[in-house]
Amino acid sequence: MKDFLQKEFGFQVRTVKKLNGYDNINYLVQTDSADYILKTYGYDQELFDTLRTENELLNFLSWEGQNNFPKPIPLADREFVKLTEIDDRPTICRLLTFLDGTFLGDVPPTEELFSSLGTFLANLDLRLQHFNSYVLKARQWEWDIQYLHLNKKYLEAIPNPHDRNVVRYFFRQFEENVGPILPELRKQVIYNDANEWNILVKEGKVSGLIDFGDLAYSPLINEVAVALTYVCYDKENPLEWAPIFLKAYHAALPLEDKEVRILYYLIAARLCISVCNSAHAKKASPDNDYATISEGFAWKMLYKWLATGPIAAENVFREAVGMPVEAFKTVEKEIERRHRHLSPIFSLSYTQPISMARAAFQYMYDTRGNAFLDAYNNIPHVGHSHPKVVEAGQRQMALLNTNTRYLYDALPAYAEKLLAKFPPSLNKVYFVNSGSAASDLALRLARAHTGYDTIAVMEHGYHGNTQNTIDISDYKFSNKKGQGQKAHILKVPIPDAYRGKYTDNDGRAGQAYTLEAAVLIKQSPLPVAAFIAEPIVGCGGQVPLAVSYLTGVYEVIRQQGGVCISDEVQTGFGRLGDHFWGYEAQNVVPDIVILGKPMGNGHPMGAVVTTSAIAESFAQGVEFFSSFGGNPVSCAIGLAVLEVIEEENLQENAKDVGDYYQSLFRELQAEYAGIGDVRGAGLFLGVELVKPGSLEPDTALAQRIKNALRDQNILISTDGPYDSVLKTKPPLCFTHDNATLVVESIKEIMKL
Ligand code: PMP
Repeated sequence: MKDFLQKEFGFQVRTVKKLNGYDNINYLVQTDSADYILKTYGYDQELFDTLRTENELLNFLSWEGQNNFPKPIPLADREFVKLTEIDDRPTICRLLTFLDGTFLGDVPPTEELFSSLGTFLANLDLRLQHFNSYVLKARQWEWDIQYLHLNKKYLEAIPNPHDRNVVRYFFRQFEENVGPILPELRKQVIYNDANEWNILVKEGKVSGLIDFGDLAYSPLINEVAVALTYVCYDKENPLEWAPIFLKAYHAALPLEDKEVRILYYLIAARLCISVCNSAHAKKASPDNDYATISEGFAWKMLYKWLATGPIAAENVFREAVGMPVEAFKTVEKEIERRHRHLSPIFSLSYTQPISMARAAFQYMYDTRGNAFLDAYNNIPHVGHSHPKVVEAGQRQMALLNTNTRYLYDALPAYAEKLLAKFPPSLNKVYFVNSGSAASDLALRLARAHTGYDTIAVMEHGYHGNTQNTIDISDYKFSNKKGQGQKAHILKVPIPDAYRGKYTDNDGRAGQAYTLEAAVLIKQSPLPVAAFIAEPIVGCGGQVPLAVSYLTGVYEVIRQQGGVCISDEVQTGFGRLGDHFWGYEAQNVVPDIVILGKPMGNGHPMGAVVTTSAIAESFAQGVEFFSSFGGNPVSCAIGLAVLEVIEEENLQENAKDVGDYYQSLFRELQAEYAGIGDVRGAGLFLGVELVKPGSLEPDTALAQRIKNALRDQNILISTDGPYDSVLKTKPPLCFTHDNATLVVESIKEIMKL
């Protein structure tokens, strides 16, 4: 090596030290008068051309008499890059001057430092505007944000499926938010790799840049995005230093509105490129630590980025560069507009209603930029805007959307996958568009099969908004504004082992409640067609049916010729952790199951699952047709939801995080006598608030907690006959940290 250097560059080499590189090998070369970096690369013609361009660019910069960038040293043939043989392998090599200084990564952050970075980069970009290169224009590669899609091939290398889908989410957001305006963005040659190990610092200010291997002809704003990524990604609060950098950059090279608007997504894109390439590199060569140096920070920041949201980030960026932050309408104005055409019968949550703009996984973002932790909405079961669900819907919508009177694969494919989640006796499915439509249809099936009319319903139960389903919903018909109980309805007491008559929840309470129900059923003047209940009564305040209750009730119902319906609209699809369907916890198999809410992750879907015998009875009647039920788009979405539940092990996560969440609530209960009961399963929990030492509901406290949480950007609701039960049923990607935050916040509120 020394001989080679002597021959090519004509100087006496003192030492040569091998350094680690990302995908090349570098050497520190020391002579008596100066230090150099020898860069070597495996042969590749495209790389050779790019390196030539890189040298041209460095020479272009050095002509201006600066010493901020490495300078290429000519070889014996006066070229700046050469193809040679090292260790019998064709190798490209080039020599650059060594730039001294301290790496930004080794210096504590200061305003002066990040401000100088902004100015330095902007000045570099101003100069690069005059550098033209067809080689760089033709370069399409993974580390150029405009070609983000090239990284999709690395997705499968990311081992954790939820991590993978978070990256997919940001890919999707890039396509939606950046894709359409990409052609409008001003492009130029950019440095494209302002990370903390490429930036040199002297006396508290940025003094130079090394490693020009990522040069790109790309939208200028990508330069800013890359630099910002590394300004933010290792900080506790990622947005803390961003404004200082941005302000300085903008002062030297003003940014445009449309550029600032997409920065959030570009930064996310850069983080995705980083984690994709780390995952790929790790898979390809598990021992190369260099490739994965920044991976931990990148993942942490991607998750913090989700918890921050695009609107908050944009507001910070806009303020930094003095662009007006979008004026939002006052909530009062929005309410007034809404009420012009919508009846106040539609309620709004919270004393201060929220004007929502976006959502991602377990976060929702309002129009002002607040990011809310969603501990409440169970409809976005696998997470808000889940990319797999969104993609499935968009793709199918662009191909075919029709109805069940035609043949298409999505229908049986989805039916097969869904029914595989049930025992063999439940092998027929009807697709509809809501839980209400499913409940309504379930009643029709039961009546057609039994020939009876009477329905036995659960106290405080809720099953839908149609007339028939209101009739079976005590929660509605017994409300003081309700229509009252109809003659064909038989109401049985809720088997509540906390607040009810029987509280030994080891099976004894369940049996006692069963006996009470049995008496009522037997006393019914007409036979009961169906008994309908949720396994955990949501509107009753998340009340799990007392242990072993259903076994006895189902037996009594069947004995007198009726069928048993389980409403799994809230409890189904793995939310309860231990079981995919709530009825499984009671060791029974219903005759009819109702599905809804989480089934389409927000896309309107419902279904009724039943036995062949019941389906046969129903088939004797008029045709059943639903214009939208079971359409290809819904089937594709439903299928994606089931796949994501499996891929991300969401049932297991519901169990794991749910148990932890419940244990935190129990610890809180031990401290506060105002918490009467903690109940539920998995990520379907209820916390009942009472006046200490009694069963008297503390509705005021429940409301205070709910609204105070909302003010701390946490969404939770209240329910139950006294509206005194905190109800939490978050998307199943909820984490331990999310659970801790909710319970810690409640604790602080209860202290007041
Ligand atoms: N059953 C239960 C248990 C529900 O909670 C709901 C909705 N809250 C329904 C049925 C009705 O579903 P949808 O609102 O989709 O009609």
